[in-house]
Amino acid sequence: MRCHLMITTESCTVFFFLARMGTRKKVHTFVRVKPTDDFAHEMIKYGDDNKSIDIHLKKDTRRGVVNNQQTDWSFKLDGVLHNASQDLVYETVAKDVVAQALDGYNGTIMCYGQTGAGKTYTMTGTTENYKHRGILPRALQQGETNRIIASHTMNKNSSRSHCIFTIYVEAHSRTLSDEKYITSKINLVDLAGSERLGKSGSEGRVLKEATYINKSLSFLEQAIIALGDQKREHIPFRQCKLTHALKDSLGGNCNMVLLTNIYGEAAQLEETLSSLRFASRMKLVTTEPAINEKYDAERMVKNLEKELALLKQELAIHDSLANRTLVNYDPMDEIQIAEINSQVRRYLEGTLDEIDIINLRQIQEVFNQFRVVLSQQEQEVESALRRKYTLIDKNDFAAISAVQKAGLVDVDGHLVGEPDGQGFGLGVTPFSAKPGKKSKSKKTFKEQLSSSARKEGASSPVSGKELDVSTSKTQLTPSSKEGDVKDMTIRERETSSIEPLPSDSPKEELRPPRPSTPPPKPVAFEDFKNERGSEINRIFKENKSILNERRKRASETTQRINAIKREMDVTKEALNFQKSLREKQGEYENKGLMIIDEEEFLLILKLKDLKKQYRTEYQDLRDLRAEIQYCQHLVDQCRHRLLTEFDIWYNESFFIPEDLQVALKPGGSIRPGMVPVSRIMSLGEDAQDKFSQLQQVLLPEGPDSVAFYNAKVKTEQKHNYLKTMMGLQQAHRK
Ligand code: ADP
Ligand code: MG
Repeated sequence: MRCHLMITTESCTVFFFLARMGTRKKVHTFVRVKPTDDFAHEMIKYGDDNKSIDIHLKKDTRRGVVNNQQTDWSFKLDGVLHNASQDLVYETVAKDVVAQALDGYNGTIMCYGQTGAGKTYTMTGTTENYKHRGILPRALQQGETNRIIASHTMNKNSSRSHCIFTIYVEAHSRTLSDEKYITSKINLVDLAGSERLGKSGSEGRVLKEATYINKSLSFLEQAIIALGDQKREHIPFRQCKLTHALKDSLGGNCNMVLLTNIYGEAAQLEETLSSLRFASRMKLVTTEPAINEKYDAERMVKNLEKELALLKQELAIHDSLANRTLVNYDPMDEIQIAEINSQVRRYLEGTLDEIDIINLRQIQEVFNQFRVVLSQQEQEVESALRRKYTLIDKNDFAAISAVQKAGLVDVDGHLVGEPDGQGFGLGVTPFSAKPGKKSKSKKTFKEQLSSSARKEGASSPVSGKELDVSTSKTQLTPSSKEGDVKDMTIRERETSSIEPLPSDSPKEELRPPRPSTPPPKPVAFEDFKNERGSEINRIFKENKSILNERRKRASETTQRINAIKREMDVTKEALNFQKSLREKQGEYENKGLMIIDEEEFLLILKLKDLKKQYRTEYQDLRDLRAEIQYCQHLVDQCRHRLLTEFDIWYNESFFIPEDLQVALKPGGSIRPGMVPVSRIMSLGEDAQDKFSQLQQVLLPEGPDSVAFYNAKVKTEQKHNYLKTMMGLQQAHRK
């Protein structure tokens, strides 16, 4: 513990402590009466509990017998010290404050009173007599029993100046291991005399000084009054150096004591009264004592290092007890991270059954590498798509219509020629590509409408814009380079070859022995649709038939709309003819109303009716198109799933080495956790190589298979990731 004593006159270093916790505490007020042979017994009386003091003033006879002058006062305090020894005063007034300062609470003890009443005697005491030493040396002494190292300088203080002694305390725990330490300070304040000027008879320079000092005392009073008023927000601390210096001691986080020194003689009664009034005002002030805690960063680091070393030893013991040898807990280097990356890849590809948990750092790195691998594969898929497809901005209508004109997509953004029936190509692509065929034979809905609108040039209740069915995704269309076109034809041939095969081939044999060469994909696909994929195939077909039914209805509605439109045009023409006839023959008018003949009237009615029909049908068409869009989405989804599952099934059935499959099956020879990870991994490495090669060679040719393969891998990744997460959560709960 260190302790510095600083004695200043008026000017004082100020520390602001922001800690404002704890409960509010009142300022403790005491009165010390200076011993005298001439004690005014009739005027000054003490309460039995030694906590109150009553003052009785004889009536001033000069003011007349009958006057309203107050003659009696009663002051309640925390203690009255009469004929008290320096020992008792210290015990009563200062001991607790100092003790609390050693626990981190700031403290302030202030002596107030007129000159000669004993402030300095109380605070400092006499230097020649040890028994008469005051609060300050005793406070230092109390600290020293707590091993304070004290330095001590003192200057002579005048009764005309304020004197603030500040003891700074910094306390560390005895064991010196606790990085938390406390700082506090004790302000011992010997105020200047509080007497009013009229009485002291000061003159000249001394008078000026006294005025100045009294001014600061009255500022102190103002600050104290403001502090006692709960409604006051602004406290005038800045008015003088004294209040400024005591700012955090008056309204701050201090334990605060006011000791009022008074004379016991009748002649000083007025000053005594004034001092006691000050004391009672001070009683209203509350403070919030709070501990000032600080942290020693250096010590904290040392402690943490110590604890870390200890925990590492602890871990080593645990590992050896659990027969885990040489587990490293240090941060991983690049090689170790690369190893984890490879583990994660093998895990995702399915060649590694599980990743052993070694420690927390490794688990975190595994997850990190999952993220790395995932984002790499995302990029790969995207760039593969970009290599194969030309992306068109869905808002670029010019580009879309150009593509439409070229016959590559219809208004829906579907590739023209997309089969309505059962057949589809193998390989997951956004749109199966079969150009030409249908666009020649069948005009699209939009083309029909717009061409009819162009022909007739009549105003239609709907603008061409509204007919645009906006596509909600970026359209992908195969680039129409020659190579690609060839590609498509090849694929078309392939596709036709997977159309239902003669069903006389034996198929209901569950798990036939694996053939030496895998069956052609189209054949296998038919098997798959009848076996594992039968349910999803059924849903797919169901959705497809709904979609076709809606399309049929849409096309019927379109035909009706066109018929209505034609009829409307015919009617309009007839109306125009009637009108011109009427104009030629001269118009009949009756009171501003146009007279028309019945034929024209009927035509108008008919046109009105046709317009109504047109609107209804058109609304139906819009609804149907929305339904179609939704069904199309479902069909696409089903198709994707069917193909993905087929691929998984195909690879499982014909490509993963049988011995490995058997071993990995439930009940097989390899069980999670039974074989060291490194062995499974080396086992998996060769198998993985073979698998990849087979993928390259045997999957249907064409760039489709890459996208297909990647899509499949991604689906599996998600599945595996979830599985791992769940496994880890379970492990964590254990
Ligand atoms: P102040 O600082 O308030 O002006 P001092 O402390 O200087 O007054 O006291 C004036 C004189 O009275 C000093 O000589 C001091 O020793 C003496 N004195 C004050 N209080 C006591 C007391 N309680 N017992 C004995 N002497 C006292
Ligand atoms: Mg003094």
